[in-house]
Amino acid sequence: MTEPFSDQHAAALDAADPLSALRAEFHLPRHGDGEQAYFVGNSLGLQPKGARAMVDEVMDKWARDAVEGHFLDPAPWMPYHELVRNGLAEVVGAEPAEVVAMNSLTANLHLMLVSFYRPTRERPAILMEAGAFPSDRHALESQVRFHGFDPGTDLIELEPDEPDGTFSMEAIERAIATHGKRLALVLWPGVQYRTGQAFDLEAITRLGHAAGAVVGFDLAHAAGNLPLQLHAHGPDFAVWCHYKYMNSGPGAVGGCFVHARHARTTRPRFAGWWGHDQASRFRMGPEFAPTPGADGWQLSNPQILSLAPLRASLELFARAGGMGALRARSVRLTGYLEALIRERLADTLQVVTPREPERRGAQLSLRVAGGRERGRALFEHLARHGVLGDWREPDVIRISPAPLYNSHADILRFARAVDAWRGGGA
Ligand SMILES: *Cc1c(COP(=O)(O)O)cnc(C)c1O
Repeated sequence: MTEPFSDQHAAALDAADPLSALRAEFHLPRHGDGEQAYFVGNSLGLQPKGARAMVDEVMDKWARDAVEGHFLDPAPWMPYHELVRNGLAEVVGAEPAEVVAMNSLTANLHLMLVSFYRPTRERPAILMEAGAFPSDRHALESQVRFHGFDPGTDLIELEPDEPDGTFSMEAIERAIATHGKRLALVLWPGVQYRTGQAFDLEAITRLGHAAGAVVGFDLAHAAGNLPLQLHAHGPDFAVWCHYKYMNSGPGAVGGCFVHARHARTTRPRFAGWWGHDQASRFRMGPEFAPTPGADGWQLSNPQILSLAPLRASLELFARAGGMGALRARSVRLTGYLEALIRERLADTLQVVTPREPERRGAQLSLRVAGGRERGRALFEHLARHGVLGDWREPDVIRISPAPLYNSHADILRFARAVDAWRGGGA
């Protein structure tokens, strides 16, 4: 065994893994004459080299065929969102009719809440995590108010019970038991954005349903990061975005899952013409007859330009051999990052993310010892040396090795840069 801090060690780990080749399929940001060590795929995934051709195809067709582009090969726009359906279903573990790419994450969350958060006097409450991503909290709070209920009593925000701001499964179980009879909805993240904690979605679904609540997930940090089994685990709905681990570009179209048991639901929904049954959509009649499945929640004709890069991204997920293979690589990468920190950097970086691989995804959240000023100084030192993580107030640097393009060599570069800084008397 070579020394883990050596170039030979990192190079050997990269050489031993056939998935290392996928890095060449991405544009890596430059730093000086070389590449950046980019660990921010949890915020904006890198551009697949194939994305430009997908976008150009749309631009060319628009120039050449204009309105007839809706019907002409290749990739006519009318059924364009079908091109990503099977790939997406693979990534999130769903049946094809359970997923649709549309809108944005927060818009999809609202659409799902309209149908699946149906508060009554007896059962008005939503259980969520305290410290959730602000957009989720805004959406949930505004929905509680929209229905005339009081977020002060009906938006229940569970505080983390573990010292680093993470949750034990027991705490979630207890909260569901305590509030069970009042719960209309449990809305939980797949991976917590700040701590990087991954949750047992099967258990949360089972407990929420047993209490009589609807269960929905925000998978912004889980889609493309962890293998998911949405159909088998059985939540009622889920939403996510495609610009993080799904590498589909800034403001990429969002994703939505509606479980097959709701395919023909008569629940209320906010409807639009693209959700209308395809066979009769262009009769332009006044009555709304929803397409069965997730497609029935579409509002508008799809954002073709924003869908195009997702096609290129999904090709790479397929080439990787799916989420199982990718996850195995991810566990190795994140394990290597953690090992380097524990071996030499533990006086500087405290790992906030759970230690057990099954309780985390790719990301490690690292609290910098000594507080905010010192943390910012380290963060800026890393950026100067071409190592990009992201900063979360007051003292956390998030480092997320994305298994499609990050390498063991990137991780070693990060660890060396931290080591040099702490040795440098900062
Ligand atoms: C990234 C993220 C969002 C972003 O929402 P958009 O509607 O895509 O802007 C929302 N929620 C969570 C948990 C996120 O991580």
